[in-house]
Amino acid sequence: MKRFQAALNQDLPMLVDTTLRDGEQTAGVVFSNREKLRIAKMLDNLGVHQIEAGIPVMGGDEKEVIKEMVGYKLQASIMAWNRANLEDLKHSLDCGVDAVAISISTSDIHITHKLQTSRDWVLENMVSAVKFAKNHGLYISVNAEDASRSDFSFLVEFAKQAKAAGANRLRFCDTIGVLEPFKTFEIITELIKQTEMDIEMHTHNDFGMATANALAGIKAGARFVGVTVNGLGERAGNAALEEVAMALKHLHGVNLGVNTKDFRNLCEYVARASGRQLYPGKPIVGTNTFAHESGIHADGVLKNPATYEIFSPEEVGLERQIVIGKHSGSKAIKMKFVEYGIDLSDEEAVDLLNAVRSVTVDLKRTLFDKELMYIYEDYLYEKNT
Ligand code: MN
Repeated sequence: MKRFQAALNQDLPMLVDTTLRDGEQTAGVVFSNREKLRIAKMLDNLGVHQIEAGIPVMGGDEKEVIKEMVGYKLQASIMAWNRANLEDLKHSLDCGVDAVAISISTSDIHITHKLQTSRDWVLENMVSAVKFAKNHGLYISVNAEDASRSDFSFLVEFAKQAKAAGANRLRFCDTIGVLEPFKTFEIITELIKQTEMDIEMHTHNDFGMATANALAGIKAGARFVGVTVNGLGERAGNAALEEVAMALKHLHGVNLGVNTKDFRNLCEYVARASGRQLYPGKPIVGTNTFAHESGIHADGVLKNPATYEIFSPEEVGLERQIVIGKHSGSKAIKMKFVEYGIDLSDEEAVDLLNAVRSVTVDLKRTLFDKELMYIYEDYLYEKNT
């Protein structure tokens, strides 16, 4: 937890990764203990500040693995998730975590239909849970579930009482992903103004805006941002760790000192462990993010990568690929053959380009290196006979 404590004294956003909690709550996803521990180590090496490790009250493997993780004494803080009751918190204490999330709904729709209780009941239970955790010396995030659909004045009251009871921050949960960045900015600005509390953004991707909303919240002054690897999470998922960290770095100029070179590896590992393939166009880490096929793009990138790349592939653990396909140009073909140690003349490159175009249209896809070599061999054969 050294990194977490050091960062608390700085004025930079902090990454709270919940791949192991919200990510695993994705319908159909379960990690083995070994995978959970491996992911925690990878997240720690990457440089996240806090790892939400799971839900101790579930007992069994879930509780055991959190204990084991605490024993690793990582640089990141280890947080356990709880409902607002002492029973849940006792299980978290058993695990030896340094931080707890205490979660309870603040929207009337949740209070009335899910909890079937009153706003007062919510406040009372939250306050007694926070006081209990505080007495045990834990760092506390109070999670306002469905905050984005909550009555704003009640949310402010909730935050104020949480703070008075000893909570360290408020997790603002856009539980069902209904925010958009402009509204997010307004709400978070006002919330900070009225409560003077540290805020964590927790955003869901139902309208494809989880990352944008997370950034908008940070711009409005939120200090913490909840993320998951690959944006794994309930329904359409959460804000993606790799997207938020790279957007902060390259769009906001905020460098959190994350080992970005590890992103592709980590994302691949979590993709495999969660049984969810990394799709080729996945922002930041998808296989296609540095693949160039069109003649104009490939020509530009070969002259200067900055023409079509905002950062270098190496920065996230990827490699640039010039893909040979229907839209390739003769320069890319020449350069591709240089990789095989073959120097094509301009005339040969043009001839091959025509052959490549007709084959790719037939196959309706780009070509493998071997296929390109076969085309070249056929070309030579025909030329010499
Ligand atoms: Mn969530």
